[in-house]
Amino acid sequence: MRPIVIAANWKMHTTPADAGPLAAQIASRTNDPDVVRVICPPYVCLATVRDALAGTGVAVGAQNVHQDLAGAYTGEISAPMLAGLATWVILGHSERRRDFGETDELVNRKLTRAIEAHLRPILCVGEQLADREAGREAEAVERQLRGCLKGHDGGLLEAGLVIAYEPVWAIGTGRSATPANAASMSELIGRVLDETPLGVGRGTAHSVPVLYGGSVTSSNFGEFMTEPGVDGALVGGASLKPDEMAGIVARAGVTARARRDAAG
Ligand code: PEP
Repeated sequence: MRPIVIAANWKMHTTPADAGPLAAQIASRTNDPDVVRVICPPYVCLATVRDALAGTGVAVGAQNVHQDLAGAYTGEISAPMLAGLATWVILGHSERRRDFGETDELVNRKLTRAIEAHLRPILCVGEQLADREAGREAEAVERQLRGCLKGHDGGLLEAGLVIAYEPVWAIGTGRSATPANAASMSELIGRVLDETPLGVGRGTAHSVPVLYGGSVTSSNFGEFMTEPGVDGALVGGASLKPDEMAGIVARAGVTARARRDAAG
């Protein structure tokens, strides 16, 4: 059974002074053993968030890594540097693609670095508004996914790959995709995963959880969770609000238990 995952992307918010108390508050308000919880603060807050989350069951993630192990890359952070600080990492977020020119090829290399460093990757894919308006959203997501995964094998499954489907037009805009949009994209992602050389046969690739991301709140999240192909959320803006996170994780827990009961 695929786990239900709620990952918080704090983006460029919080400081080492306030990140720890916020993380601790979110952890105590979301204490649900049936939901995998991850908080991804800015790099400079990783240590304080790690300490605040010790013993809570909430994992710590980074928001990016460099594609090389070390070198003359001023201001960058490599995957090995995250040892002891983070166990998860977000890769290929649309804001990185848009603002820092990240391509599928680059994200592909970052995936390699993440696996080597035993970081669990949350790989983000999602179409632009123009793609959707032209009816090319499936094509766009498929191209991204194939580009990011090309050459990767079963190591990605062992690393616990998670895919986040995040339509770019829904991120930080207050405009979310419909649950049906997310469900059909999850189906497409499952099909593409099955066709890639991840070292598994059809069906097994569906052990990869597919999250929805894009203006998720405690109010709209329930609709997404009724879709069997949606396994949780990557949450941006709302993830800085303990009340919102409490509502989102509580709803995720309901689905996790319902799916477990249904599976017998
Ligand atoms: C994100 O940062 O991945 C995201 C989905 O942001 P928001 O929830 O604010 O749209």
